[in-house]
Amino acid sequence: MAQLINGKEFADKLCIKLAEHVTKLKKEKNIVPGLAVIRIGGDPASTVYVNMKAKKTAEVGMHSVTKILDEKTSQEDLLNLVDELNKDVSINGILVQLPLPDQINKDSVINAIDPDKDVDGFHAINTGRLWSSIDSLVPCTPLGCKMLLLNQLKKLAGKKAIIVGRSNIVGKPMAALLIGESCTVTIAHSKTKDLQDEVKKNDIVVAAVGVPEMIKGSWIKPGATVIDVGINRIEKDGKKKLVGDVEFSEAEKIAGAITPVPGGVGPMTIACLLHNTLIVTCKKNKLEIPKFF
Ligand code: NDP
Repeated sequence: MAQLINGKEFADKLCIKLAEHVTKLKKEKNIVPGLAVIRIGGDPASTVYVNMKAKKTAEVGMHSVTKILDEKTSQEDLLNLVDELNKDVSINGILVQLPLPDQINKDSVINAIDPDKDVDGFHAINTGRLWSSIDSLVPCTPLGCKMLLLNQLKKLAGKKAIIVGRSNIVGKPMAALLIGESCTVTIAHSKTKDLQDEVKKNDIVVAAVGVPEMIKGSWIKPGATVIDVGINRIEKDGKKKLVGDVEFSEAEKIAGAITPVPGGVGPMTIACLLHNTLIVTCKKNKLEIPKFF
């Protein structure tokens, strides 16, 4: 049976270390990292995520600001708010919760955020820096996956890794991070031929597809490390449950290690958001950058 990669436990430990550093910053430098999250409209999943982010931000001792705008908010009003937060010295990190309503151009909004406050790491400047191996803000979910992989395998150099999914928020940055760790990386997507054979060749599988249990256990190379990013709400036997993009019950019999859903990658995303907020705060104040992994 595969070893379970406990993302919840890792994230909790990381948050404790972050909270200790925040306390030190406050005591020694009178600095309180500030994170602003903007939510537009009342999408239930976004509401849950934003509330969780605000709660965790406050728990580690950071200054938490949540801005809630109406579903019909114009692009101009949203850009004005971003501009205001860019100029606000009490705010170190800004996150605009996705998805956005149709009248808003997502890329314009993301690229309006000050790149030094872009704690989601989605700004084109941060994307370019990541792919150029220049110190950058890294998207939270892939950063969390990398932390779990390093913790599990210690060294990633030379490993063959496949990432199923090529989104800008998970798949592509994950590929950049694993190339940075000297893995040999394959990026698969909906047009990939013989996906099953491709997956089977790899020591590391990162699934970020958004299709419940699509990656079958039999596709996994024996002993491989499986990171399941997927969060899918399904109904099984009349009960609602959360499942990943990997067929966990079969994959755990073959993999060497695997993240569960829930309790795997999910908790790492918020912990990494707080991590990024602390890093930008230290950079802004020209303080030594703490290392947490
Ligand atoms: P997107 O929908 O943006 O991207 C999905 C990717 O999967 C696309 O590249 C798509 O290919 C590919 N894909 C879809 N169907 C197939 C298929 N049959 N075979 C191979 N590839 C396929 O999703 P995200 O990257 O935003 O999210 C992926 C999953 O991760 C979702 O379940 C999401 O809920 C979850 N997630 C979890 C987070 C967390 O905190 N744990 C954070 C973010 C996301 P193509 O490009 O060709 O269309």
